[in-house]
Amino acid sequence: MLKKVLKFGGTSVGSIDRIQHVANIIKKEHDSGNQIITIVSAMSGKTNELVKLSQEINKDFDKRELDVLLSSGEQVTCALLAGALISKNLKARSWMNWQIPILTEGEHSNSRIININTTKINNYIKNGVAIIPGFQGISRDGDITTIGRGGSDATAVALAKLLDADRCEIYTDVDGVFSTDPNKIPVAKKIDKISFDEMLELSSLGAKVMQSSAVQTAMMYDIPLEVRSTFTDRKGTKIFHQENLDYTKSVTGVAYSKDDAKITLLGVEDKPGVAANIFEPLHKAQINVDMVIQNISSDQKKTDITFTIKRNDLLKTKEILKNNKKISYKGFTQNEKVAKVSIVGAGMVSTPGVTYKMFKALADEKINILAISTSEIKLSVIIDEDNTLNAVKKLHTIFDLD
Ligand code: ADP
Ligand code: ASP
Ligand code: MG
Repeated sequence: MLKKVLKFGGTSVGSIDRIQHVANIIKKEHDSGNQIITIVSAMSGKTNELVKLSQEINKDFDKRELDVLLSSGEQVTCALLAGALISKNLKARSWMNWQIPILTEGEHSNSRIININTTKINNYIKNGVAIIPGFQGISRDGDITTIGRGGSDATAVALAKLLDADRCEIYTDVDGVFSTDPNKIPVAKKIDKISFDEMLELSSLGAKVMQSSAVQTAMMYDIPLEVRSTFTDRKGTKIFHQENLDYTKSVTGVAYSKDDAKITLLGVEDKPGVAANIFEPLHKAQINVDMVIQNISSDQKKTDITFTIKRNDLLKTKEILKNNKKISYKGFTQNEKVAKVSIVGAGMVSTPGVTYKMFKALADEKINILAISTSEIKLSVIIDEDNTLNAVKKLHTIFDLD
């Protein structure tokens, strides 16, 4: 008998037929003698629909009320799935975040799970299936919170840890983690095994198949994950610590995101302390600056500084720059139509020339690089958004991933 945490994403529970199909998967697992805890997302598209409704009232809708609204999507799927299992003569029940409770801390829309009381769940799974809503919790003050988009993955990993589960399986709409998004680049290949480090880079650089904070928690507590399809029986992708992996390729995957923006401050004084004065108020406002480039000026007195931020921080960043009395500059330019394309691979550490190969490939496609950032196992570039898929395809091919 195994204790299994099974998480089903939005597409997997996107219609009544699909919920029935998920109920059959759970029934099969339960009938084989396993203890089952199921985490569900809202039906696909539901959370976006709720966000849109809130914005029709106010673009800057109250954050507390937004969490109350968004958490309702998962409540619907929990009850439908529990009902489907009961109709198949299984003992099943759902609980909402506050009934368990799933305790979180941090700000609304972006809270973190800090504890889940497992007593009720552990008692129930002795002979029944427990169904838990992903993506949400309750604060110490008793307010409903949500833990960031895609957060049901994080709920599953947190529960797997706290319940000391034998397995944590993430059921989704693709066969596993691929070398890049298989829905955009059909020649992408499924990866059988991947390290936590690589998965963390891929997911934080745009591969939304796993939410990055879920991967981080799994890595921290060494909880092996399996990503697999709800709709086929094919083997999925196993994610675990890397010492067990053998790297035959320098690059494991290519990821991209279109949520960055680039700002260039023109004619900034070129003297010590200026960069600190620019970035200090951004840091205080919790704006995350990703890449920074400083050009050396010809007269050594003035310079231009380029940096990237998340696109939804652009307005706030411009306000802060305008109100910053500690710096002087001629003006700034902004570019929102940029994308970040990244190659990720633990094999990069031992392969020379990866950087050159990437830059040469982009140059051959006449794609201009606007900013660069690197870590031991990843290399990211900012390029014009229009070139995204072209760049991803080219990199996928030259690093032998097709
Ligand atoms: P769920 O609703 O099951 O959580 P998501 O939509 O969050 O599913 O994540 C699955 C999607 O992630 C896939 O449909 C695919 O388009 C996208 N994706 C992006 N990059 C990758 C990748 N490297 N491997 C697999 N899927 C990816
Ligand atoms: N329903 C939430 C979202 O769409 C959480 C999730 O699906 O994981 O972001
Ligand atoms: Mg997801």
